Amino acid sequence: MAGRYPETGLQGGHRGFYERRLCENRGAARPGVPELRNERIRGRVLVRAGVTAERLLEPVSRVFGVASLSPAVEVEADLDQIAAAGRVELRQALSLQFAGREAVRFRVKVNRADKGFPKRSNQIERELAEAVMPEFPALQVNLGSPELSLEVDLRQEGPWVFARRIPGPGGLPVGVMGRVVCLLSGGIDSPVAAWLAMKRGMRVDFVSFYSFPHVGPQLREKLIRQVENLNRWQPTAKLTIVPFTPIQEAIRDSCPPSYRTVLYRRAMQRIASKIAFRSNAKALITGESVGQVASQTLENMTVIEAASALPVLRPLVTMDKLETIALARRIGSYETSNLPAPDCCTVFQPDHPVIYGILEEALAAEQGLDLAAMTAEAVRGSERLRFPE
Ligand code: ATP
Ligand code: MG
Repeated sequence: MAGRYPETGLQGGHRGFYERRLCENRGAARPGVPELRNERIRGRVLVRAGVTAERLLEPVSRVFGVASLSPAVEVEADLDQIAAAGRVELRQALSLQFAGREAVRFRVKVNRADKGFPKRSNQIERELAEAVMPEFPALQVNLGSPELSLEVDLRQEGPWVFARRIPGPGGLPVGVMGRVVCLLSGGIDSPVAAWLAMKRGMRVDFVSFYSFPHVGPQLREKLIRQVENLNRWQPTAKLTIVPFTPIQEAIRDSCPPSYRTVLYRRAMQRIASKIAFRSNAKALITGESVGQVASQTLENMTVIEAASALPVLRPLVTMDKLETIALARRIGSYETSNLPAPDCCTVFQPDHPVIYGILEEALAAEQGLDLAAMTAEAVRGSERLRFPE
């Protein structure tokens, strides 16, 4: 099977790097397929496996950076053999993708990377079309806008013949854009935000704030499950679970109640930035969306992100809750998010949280706190988990 990735983003010296990442990530998709081997070929990644291509489709759909994939057969560099393989592939493509159609726009496309092959590409294309078309009366040659192409890659290592192109998940290979840290709660939004960050090539580590004993051990289990689920799209991750109760108590005891939620969030961003620095992560990811809850007005988001030392990316910023839920279902995070387990922000929640926070007021409210010591203590007391263990 050949996996294709979009050419446009892959110019110059980045290309080899992208390809290597793609191959590593593909291995990490843990498809449960033994003897999976990857080879990089310019513009493509060849996956050889002792199983049918169909069994690879699902695992490969979790490898970001793959634009499309094609089950391909390897043949000898001989036109009769190529034509025979082509008929098999066409039969399958027609029955799977064009069943019942009387006319299908068609062409043969030969990519003669191996210039040692004696004939020119367009001559081979013509000869192959003549050899395969009589068996399939629906095929009508249309070089300009074919719906179905029988493609032949003539390369030293091949040649390969294929007729199907199945869309891949798109995006960029996880890791090519560096590391980020996602603030992962037990809710619906942050796992989806993490997934979208992965889709754009970011390798995601996780930080969760845990108000033990106000919230029980179910939350810890839930977070672990969620990271395992999300890691189906990336090879490894770290989860740092930060003890949050002392900070919440300090804020409760010495700050105006209306600012509690905003100050909790500021503390989270401060601590997450510290943790991010240690693994050279370049941004924080949150599941915030404008206007979704009281703490997510533009004013409060501004006051909260002022505590971060890194850019705060919010992949869901303009999404409606229903759109997020639909995506959460698709990536399998919704079920886990829905497991009952209270989250830290319900602890000591005020009756009237501030909606249009003001940075100066937040800074004044924090005057009585030893922020540096609280942050250092929280980082020191954190539990660090690695996935896979
Ligand atoms: P989510 O469903 O992700 O919890 P939400 O809509 O419930 O989002 P909030 O609870 O206001 O929104 O949280 C906003 C963001 O702050 C979350 O998406 C998450 O990134 C971060 N966050 C909130 N609580 C925690 C927590 N206990 N640990 C880590 N991050 C958190
Ligand atoms: Mg939440």
